[in-house]
Amino acid sequence: MRIAIIGAGISGITAARELSNYAEVVIFEKSRGVGGRMSTRYAGVHEFDHGAQYFTASTEEFLSVVSSMIDQEIVQRWPARAQYLKSGSYEKDTGKDRFVGTPRMNQVPKFLARDLNINTEHRVLRIEKVNNSWILSFDDQQASDPFDWLVIAIPAPQATTLLTGNKVLQSLGDVRMNACFSLMLGFDKSIDVGWDTLRVDHDPVSWIAVNSAKPGRHKQYGTLVVQTSETWSNRHQEYDLPWIQSSLETVTSSLTGLNVATAPFRKLHRWLYASNANTPHGVPVSVPEDQIGICGDWREGGRVEGAFLSGRRIAHEIIKHIR
Ligand code: FAD
Repeated sequence: MRIAIIGAGISGITAARELSNYAEVVIFEKSRGVGGRMSTRYAGVHEFDHGAQYFTASTEEFLSVVSSMIDQEIVQRWPARAQYLKSGSYEKDTGKDRFVGTPRMNQVPKFLARDLNINTEHRVLRIEKVNNSWILSFDDQQASDPFDWLVIAIPAPQATTLLTGNKVLQSLGDVRMNACFSLMLGFDKSIDVGWDTLRVDHDPVSWIAVNSAKPGRHKQYGTLVVQTSETWSNRHQEYDLPWIQSSLETVTSSLTGLNVATAPFRKLHRWLYASNANTPHGVPVSVPEDQIGICGDWREGGRVEGAFLSGRRIAHEIIKHIR
């Protein structure tokens, strides 16, 4: 039994880990590394978790994996000085325990992906069923060997481009995802602005993290990650990037009291599919007669834990059919 998985984010990696006990599993990933939206951007002395900022764990299944990663020093609790700027006043930002990968967020997917068979820099452009097997075609004109089952573990809007003609597609088209801009700022000295995270209730900025304040990071080169609100990001996703960056720098200077325009490293990243706007009803997890399944954070309310749960769910569905 051979299973192909498209996407090496947390959902694809989790599905692969579970399925590897029952089949030969191969992941195809378009980027150079694993992790998807849990990735880390490297820039000389600076490193930025420019996607997921931290994660929480509510379910027993995820808590058990998180606690094993804590034991192996892949994950640490982040007891951040968390503030919420609400209607112009600062208050403590309370909530569940926050966890981060250490020394950077991408340690988590890297750790979970160890021992898996992953082909990076393989962007899947087309999937087709030939003689009851799945064949994948890549952007370098090459095609894969045949697979018995296929799992698509990428954001729903990207999946629709692959799934033309398949019945999963009909309801996938209803899934909406929000954009987000991440502004990365790297300084030549440590920074302390009085808090480690700031949640903001008015546009354009919704979140600022002092990335260098997370456990295990280099403190001597301060880093900030600034993220924009869903509504503002969706409205401005096609705007000129230099304009977005300069607007965010101005707002960040005023929110932090730092003159961020003097930071030696300043870079903007646009995520087109950052978080889901709606959790779909009626999209099947798998279509057994077509030997295809689909997973991703968008199936389970978004976020890292949702991606993990969705990867487990599709794996358990498929195991029922192949065992
Ligand atoms: P992804 O991580 O998107 O993985 C999909 C993978 O598929 C990617 O690696 C992609 O490169 C690959 N791929 C796509 N198309 C193809 C193709 N055609 N061929 C081959 N490979 C392909 N979650 C939290 O819990 N807490 C947070 O604080 C948080 N903050 C966030 C902030 C931002 C800016 C963003 C972007 C996300 C944030 N999230 C947060 C969400 C979290 O990162 C995601 O829920 C989770 O990482 C999604 O995992 P996934 O496997 O579903 O998808």
